[in-house]
Amino acid sequence: MSFRRQLFLSLAVLVLVPAVVASLAIERVVRANENAKTDARLDSASRVGKVLVEQFTVRAERRSVLLGEDADFRAALRSGKRARIVKVFPTAIEAQTYVGGIIDLGTGEPITTGSTENVGIARIQAPLPDGRTAQISVGLSTVRSFINEVESTTGVSAAILDGTRVVYRSSNFPAAQQVDLSGPAARAADRWRTRQLIVPSMADANYRVVFADNAGFSNNSAVATRLVLGVLAAFILVGLAIGWLLQRALAGRIQSFLGAADRLGSGDFAAAGAIPVKGRGEFATLGRAFVGMARQLELRVDQLERERGRVQSSLLRLGKAFAANLDRDTLVDLVVESAVDGLTADSGRALMPTGPNGTAETRGSVGAVLDSWDALGEVERRALATGASAALTLGGLHAIAEPMQVERGDGPMGVISVARSRAFEPDERELLRYLTEQAAVSLRNVGRHEDVARESITDELTGLFNRRRFDDVLTHAAARATDADPIALVMLDLDRFKVINDTHGHPFGDRVLKAVAKVVRDTARERDLPARYGGEELAVVLATGDTEAARHFAERLREGIQALKLGDDRTGPVEVTASLGVASLPADGDDVGDLVRAADEALYRAKRGGRNRVETPTPAQGPAGEVR
Ligand code: GH3
Ligand code: MG
Ligand code: MG
Repeated sequence: MSFRRQLFLSLAVLVLVPAVVASLAIERVVRANENAKTDARLDSASRVGKVLVEQFTVRAERRSVLLGEDADFRAALRSGKRARIVKVFPTAIEAQTYVGGIIDLGTGEPITTGSTENVGIARIQAPLPDGRTAQISVGLSTVRSFINEVESTTGVSAAILDGTRVVYRSSNFPAAQQVDLSGPAARAADRWRTRQLIVPSMADANYRVVFADNAGFSNNSAVATRLVLGVLAAFILVGLAIGWLLQRALAGRIQSFLGAADRLGSGDFAAAGAIPVKGRGEFATLGRAFVGMARQLELRVDQLERERGRVQSSLLRLGKAFAANLDRDTLVDLVVESAVDGLTADSGRALMPTGPNGTAETRGSVGAVLDSWDALGEVERRALATGASAALTLGGLHAIAEPMQVERGDGPMGVISVARSRAFEPDERELLRYLTEQAAVSLRNVGRHEDVARESITDELTGLFNRRRFDDVLTHAAARATDADPIALVMLDLDRFKVINDTHGHPFGDRVLKAVAKVVRDTARERDLPARYGGEELAVVLATGDTEAARHFAERLREGIQALKLGDDRTGPVEVTASLGVASLPADGDDVGDLVRAADEALYRAKRGGRNRVETPTPAQGPAGEVR
């Protein structure tokens, strides 16, 4: 059942039941009052009737003595002659003011005179000559004048019955619909009430006098009843109207809440604005609670949206990162950023081992790392020590760390740690684990990539850059060379290497080549590029420096090679020397081709000049071709 219907029904019951009960009670009281009044009138009429009959009877009997002493009447009775009796009877009765009489002689029809339906009856017996007795009844008042007298005295109408036969009814006696006289007792309907009085009749039997009255049901009481009923009806109507208005108002408010809840459910948070919140009623309180709830919901949804956005951008960034060929540092930075973003941490960083002896350095710090230094440090230490996830609370900060390893049991490639003031949920720790796992896989791939890259640009035997790399770097460096910032090229060729190969074997030649390469690598600075130019020819691009500086460098190389202690028990000591040519840009040419040519020519001159020496271009010598 709907709330509206329940409300309406309960209000109706609340109003209707008391109203009906009250109206019934009032009706009963009024009716009882009416009946009591009517009964009082009937009682008094009945008493009056009874007294009247008694008075009539006493008078009738008193006069019957005088009737017995009437000489003519006595003589007629004594003669026993019917005709004579008939003749004197009326006169004798009239003389005593009876209204009628009956003489039963024992034979033949009774002799009657005047009215035979009377009240106030007297009976006389007189001996007849033949030994029988004449029964004489006389009545003092006709039933008609008796009833009329009672009615005029008491105001109550009456009827008189012989058995069920109505002998007389007063003109005011109610119609048969109100008082039905056809049965052995009168039946009154609709506010009429009756009383019965038994009165003797001439026929030595009884009459029933029925009094009927409804005087208690006066116009006033009818009006009063109607008024009460009217007021009750009005009361019920007003109650129903109030109930209807109330349920409409309530249902209206509930409807507005329902509507707002519906709109809220479909994500329309502006719906809360339509809820009334002013006042101190329950609905206002409910409204405020509703609006508060909507606001909370909106905040939550906002937060979720933001978080989703953040996770999305993190995922996007990660996806791009993993797709791109990233270097190690960028990758680590990215993983830390994603972890801090994804877990809404205050800070985070990576700890990467730098050597086999347990040294490590922090990388990719994000957020307030200094504030959470201790917590991050401790949780990293634990994760590194156990090779498993670690979590702790330190100085009011919650920190978690995950070792970066492709598989459990692998030595970790590093540790990612994040910290914040709020505790981390299990699913957040799971997210960090996932991130670090992915990062570990990527790092391993970066390592493999680096290996491949390194292999593709280095020479296998000497570990120096190969010819391709050399060409690339030299081309780039040459393009940037200026007077203020020149570059130089040193070309180196081992002296009489063929002989070394031929004398001691090719593998020994390889070892020599390696040893020379090491001298070159050790002598070169970080920014210089030592490469294997081809065969036993090496080259070094000096990132900065003029010809003179390059010559010094070449000289150091030459000395370093000459100082090499090579050879073994089988070969005995083997002397190795090299010839070197040096040139620089822009001093010795316009482009990379000029530079190589100039250095090569200088080298050639060093060979020609007796080997184990350094040569630079000498402008006075003219074009290289002529020298050769
Ligand atoms: P010079 O340069 O002093 O004129 O005499 P050379 O004997 O060194 O002559 P050249 O430079 O023409 O000889 C190059 C020799 O280097 C030829 C080759 O057998 C040897 N060689 C080139 N590459 C390698 C290598 O990778 N290993 C070994 N063992 N020998 C090599
Ligand atoms: Mg050579
Ligand atoms: Mg050589």
